[in-house]
Amino acid sequence: MSDPRQHIMPVYRPPEEAFDRGEGVRLITEEGKSYLDFVAGIAVSALGHSHPAMVEALREQAGKLWHTSNMFRVPAGEELARKMCERTFADRVFFTNSGTEAIECAIKTARKYHWAKGDADRYEIVTFTGAFHGRSLGAINAGGNPKYLEGFGPALPGFTSIEFGDHDALDKAVTEKTAAVLVEPVQGEGGVRAIPETCLTELRKLCDERGALLIYDEVQCGMGRTGKLFAHEWAENAQPDIMCVAKGVGGGFPFGACLTTEETGVVMQPGSHGSTYGGNPLAMAVGNVVWDIISDEAFLEQVRRVSGTVAQGLKSLADSHPDKVDGVTGKGLLIGLRLKALPKPVQNACRDKGLLVGVAGNNVLRLAPPLVIEDSDVREAVGVMDAALSEWEIAT
Ligand SMILES: *Cc1c(COP(=O)(O)O)cnc(C)c1O
Repeated sequence: MSDPRQHIMPVYRPPEEAFDRGEGVRLITEEGKSYLDFVAGIAVSALGHSHPAMVEALREQAGKLWHTSNMFRVPAGEELARKMCERTFADRVFFTNSGTEAIECAIKTARKYHWAKGDADRYEIVTFTGAFHGRSLGAINAGGNPKYLEGFGPALPGFTSIEFGDHDALDKAVTEKTAAVLVEPVQGEGGVRAIPETCLTELRKLCDERGALLIYDEVQCGMGRTGKLFAHEWAENAQPDIMCVAKGVGGGFPFGACLTTEETGVVMQPGSHGSTYGGNPLAMAVGNVVWDIISDEAFLEQVRRVSGTVAQGLKSLADSHPDKVDGVTGKGLLIGLRLKALPKPVQNACRDKGLLVGVAGNNVLRLAPPLVIEDSDVREAVGVMDAALSEWEIAT
């Protein structure tokens, strides 16, 4: 028989398993084998799988109205944007279908902001090594990862990538040509690295002094993932001018958003930008439900509590496997183990034992479980990782 995958552009290399359904924190194959899902579609299924309130909202909307395009008002989108703006720094929201598109909107807004002030030469976007901002041409140039740029033509002008954590390089890079600094408060793909809170505060100050905008990419670390609604809220006086969200905001329904202040966002007027599907009635029906659940302070408190259990569990694994584990990295429920060799064999061994985990950077075993996990799920996951690490014959 031919390979059923032969017509899929093979840019991913998925394992053999195909999942048939999801129930809470578990994914289940057609044969009925159940897996504990500690990767959640890369920090997307924040409320787990088949959350009854989300299923109900989508079912109800699917029977009423799917799509009108943004030529017409979408009341549920107006409502979600209002809630987002009441709860955050923002005054304006543009809904997208993905994180990449939220980044595109952010870069365009930042550049247009300076252009509208008569400063058309301020178009540079400063980013950090290890960054990931998506896969469009704009986003791979912003991310600066040479692996993702190779073969896709000349690098676009207007992007400067500096070493993560190099304060001198940052000081030199932010000039009168800088439109914005773009940063993930916790890097996801780059290896689950949190920027120290005081550094975000300093970064805000630097941007203010130099007249540059500050853009946060909270696509992966936002929406409750670190135990605050947005990761930058851990830092004082560190609000952005623009913020990108996606992944968890839709809980599995594909949508994202670019949020801006009034002052910055006012440059985006009729004709400036657009999206056929962005914020359509299906996405907004689900988005309102997800927002209402996750933005609740009691829910976030529970995320912080269970995050402590995860951190403790990972710490115990680092302690009991010092020859294989370098330490724990990340924040809240975007967290990982730094391993002393490539993490793929450990990831595969975990899957064989019924636990799904991710990888990030060069050597990080990444966890991004649904935010609704319980202590018993954490104990189970830690037990599986312990067994996988014990068996692992590390190549040195
Ligand atoms: C996943 C991700 C993106 C891209 O989002 P898509 O929905 O895949 O386009 C951008 N930034 C960060 C930090 C991400 O983790």
